[in-house]
Amino acid sequence: MKTIGLIGGMSWESTAEYYRIINEAVKERLGGLHSAKIVMYSFDFADIGDLQRQGKWDEATNLMIEAAKRVESGSADFVLICTNTMHKMADDVAVNINIPLLHIVDVTAERIIPVGFKKVGLLGSAFTMEEDFYKGRLKEKYALDVLIPNEADRQVVHNVIFKELCLGEIKDSSREQIKAIMKGLVDDGARGIILGCTELPLLVKQEDCPVPLFDTTAIHAKAAVDYALKD
Ligand code: GLU
Repeated sequence: MKTIGLIGGMSWESTAEYYRIINEAVKERLGGLHSAKIVMYSFDFADIGDLQRQGKWDEATNLMIEAAKRVESGSADFVLICTNTMHKMADDVAVNINIPLLHIVDVTAERIIPVGFKKVGLLGSAFTMEEDFYKGRLKEKYALDVLIPNEADRQVVHNVIFKELCLGEIKDSSREQIKAIMKGLVDDGARGIILGCTELPLLVKQEDCPVPLFDTTAIHAKAAVDYALKD
């Protein structure tokens, strides 16, 4: 079994899910007392959140590269960035380490393509929904048409993530708002919805959405286990 490297803490609420899902999947696959081999670097998310808000992406990139190197030197065989947003600098991280980086967009697209969907909705932080690093990769590499909510709804999703979910607050009222936003995307033609924020699955479940949900936390974590157990 390979050792999985995790760059986490963004937020720890979702990194805890990665840890749980990865270990459960290894137990399911290998049985008995088996659990995953993991090396993790976990950020103080306040530091990262400040850099995001201030648009200091170069500084954030340096921190991410540094974290990846620490994970590599801790003997990880490959690395995951446990957040969609911080895949903004995934390519910079990948070229600065000597182990593979398992990209969250790639493993998610690999789950969408076989289903045959061409048009999907995307929910995540404002950075993820609005910038090109995420939608662009889905479009250019996988020919997926990606719908995002309107500006007011994007703000709602962003605020629910940073002001509630990253603080461990799960509110029914916010779930109702997200459900309405997902329905809007479905009405506009989305065949599936990407939960492109690793905290969103804490709030929204499949029963809250009329089309298939692509939970990036679970998809990414399970892809890590597949890779760790592959020969
Ligand atoms: N975990 C969230 C994501 O998947 C947001 C936190 C962050 O900005 O990294 O995008």
